[in-house]
Amino acid sequence: MRVVVVGAGMSGLCCARLLVRQGHEVTLVSADALDLTTSYLAAAVWFPTAVGPPEKVARWGASTYDVLAAEAAADVPGVVMRESLMLYRDRESVLPPLPGWAGEVGDVRPARPDELPPGYPYGLRFVVPLVEMPLYLPHLYAEVLAAGARHVVRRVSRLDEVLDLAPDVVVNASGMAAGALVGDDTVFPVRGQIVRVSNPGVHLSVRDEHHPGGRAYVHPRSEDCILGGTLDVGDWHTEPDPAETAAILERCIDIAPRLADAEVLESVVGLRPGRREVRVELDEDLLPVPVVHDYGHGGAGITIGWGCGEDVASLVGELAAP
Ligand SMILES: Cc1cc2nc3c(=O)[nH]c(=O)nc-3n(C[C@H](O)[C@H](O)[C@H](O)COP(=O)(O)OP(=O)(O)OC[C@H]3O[C@@H](n4cnc5c(N)ncnc54)[C@H](O)[C@@H]3O)c2cc1C
Repeated sequence: MRVVVVGAGMSGLCCARLLVRQGHEVTLVSADALDLTTSYLAAAVWFPTAVGPPEKVARWGASTYDVLAAEAAADVPGVVMRESLMLYRDRESVLPPLPGWAGEVGDVRPARPDELPPGYPYGLRFVVPLVEMPLYLPHLYAEVLAAGARHVVRRVSRLDEVLDLAPDVVVNASGMAAGALVGDDTVFPVRGQIVRVSNPGVHLSVRDEHHPGGRAYVHPRSEDCILGGTLDVGDWHTEPDPAETAAILERCIDIAPRLADAEVLESVVGLRPGRREVRVELDEDLLPVPVVHDYGHGGAGITIGWGCGEDVASLVGELAAP
């Protein structure tokens, strides 16, 4: 099949790689350079945030965990398995049943007292994939092109503007733009401000989802650390707020005191493509050719990207079957 994939962030590139490997003739269409996508700036840690529905997210998340774990083992650029600590302020949170995400992660154990920062009574330790997107996204893109896909740089204002490329099927993986492109008014922004700092020797990812100052997370990468962050539903502002930068730093130092020595490199804002439920489905009404949607990944596009891509590839495969 001739497949046009609109979008070259995590979602579009996962779909494209799977489709090209299935033998389809793939054309990527995207408006922005890789480093201007939401995917590029993501903290990109495996963790289901602001995304639904839970059962599908669990399945997509489990597949993606496995793909990324295999890529980490194969030294794919940017992918590592990261020791992690989830902090809690009350004991109930760490008693069984464990939170839903723990099912996909496998080994989750209570943190020892000596593993906890000052003031925290409880925590869970586990290992999850962490993806350094400035390394991984170009790698994926290069793989897709090397496998035979081509790339058309084009900004479309409606999905039918790709019909001149004569597709048999269109995959809509356009992230935040998907709502406008297909007239879906249930897509909304979930603004995220994060701070990139130098890494003063932090090796553990740490999170406190219930810090009184707001959500706090620290994700060490090879050269820097990503500190977060905000989750502002419905907020379209893409300028970083200096007061928020200071607040993020303060609460991240609470959970990883070593960061007091870190140098601030930059603050960045991205708009997570929010939707009550991720939309991965076949749509035969929108265009004269079938469309397979893959958008609305909220704060979990890296966590579920491969799982969603596998469903997209199956749907395209069914269309191709005689
Ligand atoms: C601060 C922050 C932290 C995050 N941390 C994590 C995390 O730790 N873990 C996690 O799993 N997720 C995280 N996310 C969420 C994740 O980044 C998104 O879910 C994911 O990037 C969505 O990927 P996408 O490919 O669907 O969209 P995008 O990456 O936005 O890609 C959209 C693509 O569509 C193209 N496009 C858009 N409009 C048009 C148009 N009109 N015409 C043609 N092409 C167009 C763009 O050029 C781009 O190629 C975070 C997000 C933010 C903002």
